[in-house]
Amino acid sequence: AKAAGRNTLRFYDPQMQAAVAARVQLEADMRAGLATGQFELYYQPKVAHGKIQGAEALLRWRHPERGFVPPSEFIPLAEECGLILQLGQWVLHAACEQLARWAAEERLAGLTVAVNVSPRQFHEGGFVAQVLEALASTGADARRLRLELTEGMLLQDVEDTIAKMVQLRGYGVGFSLDDFGTGYSSLAYLKRLPLHELKIDQGFVRDVLTDPNDAAIARTIVALGTSLGLQVTAEGVETEAQREFLERHGCHVWQGYLLAPPLPRERFEALVHEHGTA
Ligand code: C2E
Ligand code: CA
Ligand code: CA
Ligand code: CA
Repeated sequence: AKAAGRNTLRFYDPQMQAAVAARVQLEADMRAGLATGQFELYYQPKVAHGKIQGAEALLRWRHPERGFVPPSEFIPLAEECGLILQLGQWVLHAACEQLARWAAEERLAGLTVAVNVSPRQFHEGGFVAQVLEALASTGADARRLRLELTEGMLLQDVEDTIAKMVQLRGYGVGFSLDDFGTGYSSLAYLKRLPLHELKIDQGFVRDVLTDPNDAAIARTIVALGTSLGLQVTAEGVETEAQREFLERHGCHVWQGYLLAPPLPRERFEALVHEHGTA
């Protein structure tokens, strides 16, 4: 394969050419979108013991021609081309700004906001400083900010990862392990991380009533998290039966379409006013 390297450009592959052009275009569009305010945060309520505890902030991109582009289409590309660093910073800042605004409103003051963090954002470019800057410049309370990390990114450089987490924990920032069960964390390692929360991946919740393996995994995660003193949150809860099953097995915190999909800020606030906070 090495020997072919220099000569590969000689083959003209129109399909590949088109795919590359589309990526380059999307990348340029993302940069432009960031500069012109096409990105926004949606908020999905997280329910704890029947009350809304907070929101997970989920990024939305309203492309001028293509309409909403789902995160699954642009986040991986942003991660590859490095734009995730700026995008991630924008998300952190916007989420902290929202947190600060809610803190000033009596009925919204108790809410937490969870932000998804990408691997490059966490490992490159002064992540701790980025978070502290977002908090300081908005006046948001660090104790209401949650950062959602995934297993894979934590294994990249364990000592450095723990050091960053410990530093931010010192300011009160909380950490969630997202998509738990899909990676391969060792339990010994899990114990060392200063976490608040494990999130059961929606892949296990989906068939929790019909697939005994998924049910066993979900119950194991609840038992594990609980015994480590962590909050265990189920993602992707769509039915009352799923919620009931999870509650019966000790999981009292969940997110999902059963209550609401990610919502624009005003609709999220209206829902909180209807429902009450934790
Ligand atoms: P995630 O962090 O696991 O987020 C949960 C995804 O599940 C969201 O998809 C959410 O809309 C969806 N979801 C919530 N409840 C339900 C449900 O009941 N049923 C089903 N089928 N789906 C549900 P979304 O918003 O499309 O985001 C996809 C992924 O993109 C996220 O997965 C996260 O990995 C990434 N992402 C989103 N926003 C950001 C961001 O600001 N920064 C980074 N780095 N990644 C982000
Ligand atoms: Ca998440
Ligand atoms: Ca997740
Ligand atoms: Ca399954």
